[in-house]
Amino acid sequence: MLIFTAPSGAGKTTIVRHLLNTFDFLDFSISVTTRERRPHEIEGKDYFFRSVEEFQHLIKTEKLAEWEEVYEGRFYGTLKSEVDRIWQSGRHSVFDIDVKGAANLQLQYPSNCKSTFIKPPSIDILIERLTNRKTESADSLEKRIKKAKIELCYESVFHQVLINDDLSAALKNAEKIAQSFIFGENHQ
Ligand code: ADP
Ligand code: 5GP
Repeated sequence: MLIFTAPSGAGKTTIVRHLLNTFDFLDFSISVTTRERRPHEIEGKDYFFRSVEEFQHLIKTEKLAEWEEVYEGRFYGTLKSEVDRIWQSGRHSVFDIDVKGAANLQLQYPSNCKSTFIKPPSIDILIERLTNRKTESADSLEKRIKKAKIELCYESVFHQVLINDDLSAALKNAEKIAQSFIFGENHQ
């Protein structure tokens, strides 16, 4: 299990998508969320978009390996069935999840996972990226920035830190992280 975590806007999705396009031994664990779908997002590829009631049913029936109310009223969770599906396919699972959820997953699967905290060069650059992405309302942007300031204090909880400053360097480093986890440190 390769877990990528970071505050919103640090570049998780960009890096994870690159790894999935580069390596066919990886597969994305598709999370469930109650937030609205962004225009470019595809149901069953980016997320499973569900109502709050449907999400609560998943919690009640113990279908989730972990879940968090990442933002007020916005729930996100990892389906146990996604973890099983990818393991059964013989590929390695990749997770793009928030800091609390990532810490929780790594506690549940201590011998199977490598966690990477993606760190922006500074909080100001993170705010700039999140603003330029133009996916958030003013209210949501404010909530994400507030939470990001707290999440940035948690890098030491994870196995390694990947600084996402120059994108092409970060993508290369992410490739090395994936290859060394799967094939060993000395893999060329
Ligand atoms: P997250 O999934 O962590 O919320 P994204 O991958 O959506 O973050 O990245 C946030 C925004 O920043 C996106 O618009 C993305 O294109 C941009 N971005 C990501 N990495 C870099 C980088 N190294 N330099 C400049 N822009 C970046
Ligand atoms: P976004 O709304 O930008 O797609 O995601 C918001 C946050 O929720 C990001 O930090 C993302 O990594 C996190 N997230 C996505 N899926 C999950 C999940 O299954 N569990 C948890 N705990 N967080 C998730």
